[in-house]
Amino acid sequence: LFAQVEMAPRDPILGLNEQFNADTNPNKVNLGVGVYTDEQGKLPLLKCVAAAEKQLLEAPKARGYLPIDGIAAYDKAVQSLVFGADHAAVKGGRIATAQAIGGTGGLKLGADFLKRLNPDAQVLISDPSWENHRALFESAGFTVGTYPYYDAAAKGINVDGMLSTLKAAPAGTIVLLHACCHNPTGYDLTEAQWNEVIAITKERGLVPFLDMAYQGFGNGIAEDGAVVIKFLDAGLSFFVSTSFSKSFSLYGERVGALSIVSETADESARVLSQLKRVIRTNYSNPPTHGAQVVATVLTTPALRQLWEEELAQMRDRIKLMRTALVDNLKAAGITQDLGFITRQKGMFSYSGLNAAQMQRLRSEFGIYGVDSGRICVAALNDGNIKAVSQAIAKVSQ
Ligand code: PMP
Repeated sequence: LFAQVEMAPRDPILGLNEQFNADTNPNKVNLGVGVYTDEQGKLPLLKCVAAAEKQLLEAPKARGYLPIDGIAAYDKAVQSLVFGADHAAVKGGRIATAQAIGGTGGLKLGADFLKRLNPDAQVLISDPSWENHRALFESAGFTVGTYPYYDAAAKGINVDGMLSTLKAAPAGTIVLLHACCHNPTGYDLTEAQWNEVIAITKERGLVPFLDMAYQGFGNGIAEDGAVVIKFLDAGLSFFVSTSFSKSFSLYGERVGALSIVSETADESARVLSQLKRVIRTNYSNPPTHGAQVVATVLTTPALRQLWEEELAQMRDRIKLMRTALVDNLKAAGITQDLGFITRQKGMFSYSGLNAAQMQRLRSEFGIYGVDSGRICVAALNDGNIKAVSQAIAKVSQ
């Protein structure tokens, strides 16, 4: 039966993790995977999460099946967080939000729903993008193309290339956009550039799909979410996937959501009914624990405040590490302009190092980043930053 089955290629980032775990270098540093670790190099358990779990444990509940679209209070809390509780689109019932299995689950639900709605649509993702974007939309049956994004020479975004590709895209093209903290480059569009993207989207009848995996890691919860409100205010119909993996440090709980903005409440009800069919035929209904934790934190004022503080601490520590990286690289002898490191947002820095240099970092120094040059700044700390900077300086000579 399985004689013809070929070995699938290893996931590039998870494969890197395996290599890291097998490395016996005592000074090894994992800058590959997109996970926030604290000053001690540990994955944090947020205090707000621990408090919510304690609260839930004190009043344990039986675990019946959840509704197909998840915990109603969770969906409502996510919708308020992403779109604002008082927005006319929220109050008017124009947004359908369903609990999903992480941000990945939200993206896949949206992709499967879109495939049923418009099977011949093209999908455009940024060049480069999170690896799974392409694989996920291809596995939903779409052909996936790219729009220019990273400009290596300018250490920024090729905005003209991006906009002209979007202008030339046929109506109905699904455009995957990183709402904030672009993975892998760390470069985000400015407000004025977003306005241009929105104008083209409207004019060309494109279908925006905003991937929000790092809300609160860029400039703040509201600041990062402002892009979503811009799309809402433009009167567009669009998709938003949400992930709480990073912002709640709940990676393994798989907590996320998909929201779909429609033109009317009636349209939204029909959309939700179809979205539920996608869920029902995939995994029937989502799991309980992670969403209960997130809903409890988001709807309990004291815990909500604590979460916002803890998220701000993670954001501020990453920013501090960006500045420290610049200082340490300079101290290690790098003379080129390093301003791009502090211009980038979120967990990652596209370092500009090439694949050969990244491989040398691994083999000679036990420093693991992605061959594209992407390093996870959120895994740097006072204990490893000097060695990382000196190693980067060495491979840059
Ligand atoms: N989108 C982007 C851009 C991501 O970086 C990630 C996580 N690496 C996801 C989606 C998926 O998030 P989750 O782990 O919640 O599935």
